[in-house]
Amino acid sequence: MTAAPTGDQPTVHPLIIIGSGPAGLTAAIYAARANLAPLVFEGIQPGGQLTITTEVENFPGFPEGIMGPELMDIMRQQAQRFGSTHAYEMVDKVDLSERPFRVWVDGKEFRSHALIIATGASARWLGLAEETRYQGRGVSTCATCDGFFYRGKEIFVVGGGDSAMEEAHFLTRFASKVKIVHRRDSFRASKIMQQRVLDNPKIEPLWNKHIVGYLGDEVITGATLEDTVTGERQDMPIDGIFIAIGHIPNTGFLDGQIALDEHGYVLLNGPTGTNVEGVFACGDVADTRYRQAITAAGTGCQAAMDAEKWLEAQGIESGAD
Ligand code: NAP
Repeated sequence: MTAAPTGDQPTVHPLIIIGSGPAGLTAAIYAARANLAPLVFEGIQPGGQLTITTEVENFPGFPEGIMGPELMDIMRQQAQRFGSTHAYEMVDKVDLSERPFRVWVDGKEFRSHALIIATGASARWLGLAEETRYQGRGVSTCATCDGFFYRGKEIFVVGGGDSAMEEAHFLTRFASKVKIVHRRDSFRASKIMQQRVLDNPKIEPLWNKHIVGYLGDEVITGATLEDTVTGERQDMPIDGIFIAIGHIPNTGFLDGQIALDEHGYVLLNGPTGTNVEGVFACGDVADTRYRQAITAAGTGCQAAMDAEKWLEAQGIESGAD
């Protein structure tokens, strides 16, 4: 049941989904099939992080692989087939202090009985000029997605935390040599992960170095490294660069209304619940561990099912009038 607008009051939707990666779109498919007619705010990068990757080879069901943007397009079509509505705008702010919840987009107010947060996390990039141009052309932030393309090649991994250790270790399955470019002379990563990396003969740390420029025309062929102690610069040939300097969860718009961990990720209460009843979270915005399209899709399904059950308990069962 969707409440009819009275006067200037906005329509109350049963469910608003914020975010449009595999988590948000899978939540939309399940919620739409549950007749909740979800309204999905896709943001300014519809499809999320997958739209900046090239081929996705590890999403089950696509034995020949599928391009990231195409995968997101067909997920959206699947949700729309069952009655979801999609808007390609950013949610500026929310008010979760009263129900129905209030959501503002470009100054316009929307209301919903339940909310699913699937806004993902953005990989941190170095912020160098031309970085965007090299994305998918030798510069990547996802070893699981792109490592396969570097069989027998030499690559850099940038960073000194657990992510960099994990990516470097994983990449030795394909690469002939992995050099970890780190801006200090010691890693921040946990001891056990550091040791695994330092014991691997295919991995070589490059201490006190940071990348100050990319080299190559169409694709990366090298990088300019600067010594962070001496300031000395050196051009080094390389086939690929994996940046693993952390992720930034997209939770700023929540403005402290949902409990977050110390890194800004949504703290879950149960599989997809949050500290605010009726607000659910799924995908990378609440996941510091797996961060895969398929795991995000799985939690999107869980969030929609949890939201449906919760709405049912409130006596709100359908988005159809
Ligand atoms: P992180 O711990 O914040 O480490 C980021 C690393 O990147 C640091 O070494 C930092 O250098 C470096 N860095 C940051 N900005 C940089 C820049 N602009 N240029 C060059 N280097 C830069 O991030 P993370 O490794 O992604 O880990 C995030 C959280 O997830 C951690 O709590 C981690 O333990 C957890 N995690 C766990 C696992 C696991 O247990 N399997 C795997 C991955 C992540 P400095 O050290 O100099 O600051």
